[in-house]
Amino acid sequence: MAFYAQHYDLFLTATQSFCQQCDNINRLVDTHVVTKDNEVFLRKFCPTCGESMVKISTNYDYYKQCEAYLKQPDLPEKSLTQVLRGCPYDCGVCPQHQNHPCLALFNVTDECNMKCNICYYAAEPGLGNHRSMEEISQMLDTLLETESEPDLIQVTGGEPTTHPQIMEILQFLKKSPVRHLMLNTNGIRIAEDEAFVKALKKLGAGFEVYLQFDSLQKEVLQDIRARDMREVRRKALAMLEKHNVSTTIVSVIKKGLNDKEIPQILAFSRKYRCIRGVVFQPVQEVGRIKAEGDFRITLSEIRQIVVEDEGNPFTAADMIPLPCDPHKIGVGYAAKTMGIDKEGAPYANLMPVTGQIPKEMITEQRGTVAFEQDRAFVKTIVETVSLDTAMGESILKDKIKTKLFCCWPSFLSPADMGYENVYRIVIMEFSDVYNFDTTNIKRECNFMIEPNRVIPFSTYNMGLSRSQ
Ligand code: SF4
Ligand code: SF4
Repeated sequence: MAFYAQHYDLFLTATQSFCQQCDNINRLVDTHVVTKDNEVFLRKFCPTCGESMVKISTNYDYYKQCEAYLKQPDLPEKSLTQVLRGCPYDCGVCPQHQNHPCLALFNVTDECNMKCNICYYAAEPGLGNHRSMEEISQMLDTLLETESEPDLIQVTGGEPTTHPQIMEILQFLKKSPVRHLMLNTNGIRIAEDEAFVKALKKLGAGFEVYLQFDSLQKEVLQDIRARDMREVRRKALAMLEKHNVSTTIVSVIKKGLNDKEIPQILAFSRKYRCIRGVVFQPVQEVGRIKAEGDFRITLSEIRQIVVEDEGNPFTAADMIPLPCDPHKIGVGYAAKTMGIDKEGAPYANLMPVTGQIPKEMITEQRGTVAFEQDRAFVKTIVETVSLDTAMGESILKDKIKTKLFCCWPSFLSPADMGYENVYRIVIMEFSDVYNFDTTNIKRECNFMIEPNRVIPFSTYNMGLSRSQ
């Protein structure tokens, strides 16, 4: 058995994880969080396989910053399961969970018109199982029991646009108390069906497309998606731009494959008026993805590439931990106005704002995401941001209008600015058998909604909610 006691610097805390070597999700193993050479590791003690170390951060200074950003828990309004076997085997949501559903995923079908190599859900053509309107209504009722005014519902699958009633589902959810609705899609139907895009546009403000976009390279797309998706992406974005449908592009990142492409993806995103930002997601080893360690990448490595990219204006001060789940989500917000590049093509000017907001203004909030209810907070932020005239004029004026996205004010603006003036970079890391720990999992704020339960996204994907 390996013995690492000589080879780490600081012991930070003790928690529990799973052994990635025996891959047994029915047995937690004692785990220490330790540092070595300014990196952070899970040091695991498996009775069968011995000790192992898994890197969870390449930047101990940023790791400490995450701890400093922790805010008071914002709990679900109601638990739906009891504590019986203990975390993580009581998901549903149980009384131990420390975060409410910021983002609720509604899986409306198992069917997909692709078979990606990295699908967490292992979807593929022919699986079918479209959820009925009754089931979706029941899922909404279940969510509303735990969160009466959800910030964000994301309709997903499988590929949700293969569901014959997808517009009915979106219209139904749009009428619910949800603040923001997203459609998570591979873009195939959007590329081909303009009438569908027009119908999406009619859903109005508060609706957004969450579009797969992992690379500009054929080989990378073949590796991740098992298909060259470049033409589909080009057509889909042309369609979304034409109808100005708010869009977030999301890139799954595999180390050594597309991590070096992050600057190009960021630059590409600025060519479109409709793109509100980019989400980077380190690949997880769940679903169809086999356990291989060498393509793993941490949130801190992606953040470093973003802040070292001289082509975008986000600095280390602008890419901060999200207070509700700081180790797992990093965010940076900018005000955006469309300009032109050297060739005269459309290109977004960005003015990052997160670095200008004092940390205390975020972490000292009462345990709520409802920042707009705290007028003093909003006023101070707007005044702070208004000091920046980097774009030639103060773009934030007197009349305050706010909207919220998840645990962070997504948009603070005067009446003459809209959601299209928001741009954000989000790095969102989920848990798998490697980086799982029973402390952080209790803060997860992305939930899969089932007719009778709401389950943290990571434990759902790992099969933990089904392992009993
Ligand atoms: S992950 Fe959350 S909901 Fe699941 S068992 Fe642990 S505390 Fe409960
Ligand atoms: S990742 Fe999305 S598009 Fe790819 S197979 Fe899975 S559900 Fe389908």
